[in-house]
Amino acid sequence: MYCDDSTDLLFCYDMKGCNNCLFSYGLRNKQYYIDNKPYSKEEYFEKLKAMKLDTHSGLERARKGWNEFRAQHAIHRDAYITNCENSSGNNLKNCKNVTDSFNVVNSEDCKYLYDVLDAKTCQDLNYSLYHPEVAYECISTLQMRYSAFCVASHYCTSCFYCEMCNSSSDCFGCVGLNKKKYCILNKQYTKEEYEKLRTKIIEHMKKSGEWGEFFPAERAQFAYNETVAQEYFPLKKDETEARGYTWRDKDAREYQAQTCEIPDAIADVPAMITNEILACEDCNKNYKVISQELRFYKNKNLPIPRKCDLCRHAARMQLRTPRQLGERTCGKCNKSITSAYQSGRPEQKIYCEGCYLAAIY
Ligand SMILES: [Zn+2]
Ligand SMILES: [Zn+2]
Repeated sequence: MYCDDSTDLLFCYDMKGCNNCLFSYGLRNKQYYIDNKPYSKEEYFEKLKAMKLDTHSGLERARKGWNEFRAQHAIHRDAYITNCENSSGNNLKNCKNVTDSFNVVNSEDCKYLYDVLDAKTCQDLNYSLYHPEVAYECISTLQMRYSAFCVASHYCTSCFYCEMCNSSSDCFGCVGLNKKKYCILNKQYTKEEYEKLRTKIIEHMKKSGEWGEFFPAERAQFAYNETVAQEYFPLKKDETEARGYTWRDKDAREYQAQTCEIPDAIADVPAMITNEILACEDCNKNYKVISQELRFYKNKNLPIPRKCDLCRHAARMQLRTPRQLGERTCGKCNKSITSAYQSGRPEQKIYCEGCYLAAIY
């Protein structure tokens, strides 16, 4: 996690310009380090081999050990904000005047962005890239300009309440249009007709309270618990339903018994494993290993997973901080800081920027 310009790192955190390191954090331009201590090349590879990362038991032992080691010893920054001016949130790079945003790069004069690149004068965007400009409440979009309340639409200008529309402009409430102009509910109008009718619809929507709001949650095509929302803002089934969202129950057909034993070492896993039904060791959900995947694990000398893809994803998500900031004190100088690391997080050392820089550099 948080590693740049590095190769062949295993279980590392916040490394830059490093190669062949294991169980290490906060290093700059180092090689052959284990537990933040230097080794000779020969010692490094000997120790690496002894860990048996080609086996399920060895990899899980390493994973558990590393998670505990990182939580206890690694120095974490209060917020990962790099080369930014007047900006707040977490995981921001090259931003100016960006407020309460997460995972944003190269953006200016924006608020409440999640996973956005190159935005200018935007608010409430999620997964929006390729220079969005003056866009509001859009999700999964590319290069939306002067547009709002759009979903999965790309290269559009002045579009409102559109879904899956591409390279269009001046459209309102349309679905699946390409290269269109002056359409309302997918019907073609002249410029004059469009402007008149659009004004009328907006007036009506203002009275009904719909104008200015994103599509209502009951229109969502997916259940709450199968979306990213559940990852960052988890709810239980009854809480979800109380809010009027749908919930997807488990499908019993996805929980059959595993049809084979998985060998501990990747070298012993037969090609036939791709024909087997596997069951997750955490939740029992079925999953498969496909041939390309098996080839990858064999090439990298890593064991095949014992967990389903959803549980593997959930385990990675646990390493991430929530998209919520709170106050706490620097673990070194006790200064008050704003951070996504809040109570309940396993990480012990959360430092202010000054203490972080002094400790790492
Ligand atoms: Zn699972
Ligand atoms: Zn400090």
